[in-house]
Amino acid sequence: MLGKASINNKGAILLGKYVACDSLDDSRPLRVVTHAHYDHLNGLQHSLRRCEAVIMTPATKDLLEAMRGRWSLRSDNVKALDYEEPFIHEDEKLTLRFADHILGTAQVLVEDAEGTRILYTSDFKLPRTPIIDVDVLVIDATYGNPMQVRPFERIVENALVSLVERGLKQEPVYIFGYHGKLQEVMQILRNARVGAPFIVPEKVFRISEICEKHGMNLGKYHLFSEGEAQSMFKKKDAFVAFYHMNSRRYIGSDAFRILISGWEFSSPRRQIGDNEHLIALSDHSDFKGLLHYVRESRSKLVITDNYRVGAAKTLAKHIEKRLKIPARALPK
Ligand SMILES: [Zn+2]
Repeated sequence: MLGKASINNKGAILLGKYVACDSLDDSRPLRVVTHAHYDHLNGLQHSLRRCEAVIMTPATKDLLEAMRGRWSLRSDNVKALDYEEPFIHEDEKLTLRFADHILGTAQVLVEDAEGTRILYTSDFKLPRTPIIDVDVLVIDATYGNPMQVRPFERIVENALVSLVERGLKQEPVYIFGYHGKLQEVMQILRNARVGAPFIVPEKVFRISEICEKHGMNLGKYHLFSEGEAQSMFKKKDAFVAFYHMNSRRYIGSDAFRILISGWEFSSPRRQIGDNEHLIALSDHSDFKGLLHYVRESRSKLVITDNYRVGAAKTLAKHIEKRLKIPARALPK
């Protein structure tokens, strides 16, 4: 079993004999991009030049083009592969499976000639991510520390909606978050029938269009530079503006502000300034969710991702101790 999966020192998750996910490995002909977050895009240009195929879901391809420019993926070897659609290379079969994270995220399953099932979860959260039965599992370890549990996860969406409604009674609401997460918030608000107009800057607008193309429901939103948005803005109408987290220092400083962050375990909502709150909406499974995935996948060997931010060594230790399954953090 050992040797069928690994993580190299550039953060590439190696599955079977041919696949490298989310970073570089020059010996591998296939590169998979599991989703459009920057810590999963290491050396993508290099892979576009070198690999036989660079594989991702159609939604991830669209998102990358919206973020990096339409020409960034103009390469003959880019392969948009739907969930569940098999891709055969030599004697191995690769399949992308849905993961609940940002739009387009995929788990990567490789089945080799001996019938061994090898899987990388990529980033995910439960309960909407399907747990796949596997032999060898490579798992995200972002919240791999037992302190990192969110018992309140189910009520976060309600906390978010009621906070936005409260803010809208007084003034415009500004929401700051990362690409993908902002659109998730827009959808939560629309599903909860928050009807206020949404205003977004250009990049958020482009990414929102992609999210709608792939089935998300965001209602009506206006580009910040449009006349209609400008007049709402001047009159300080009740609207919700969505900006990337990096804009929070210089935009909407006197407005009702909400920051969306995953790194929060004390409560679903926390006041962090006079008119500023933090909402603990995460796209990653917490510690309990990670252990749950490992147990239910019935894997015989687990590798925790020790390259990206997280607690891979701690998680591996707890998998061995609590579940009695061999586990190691890689790269060392
Ligand atoms: Zn991610």
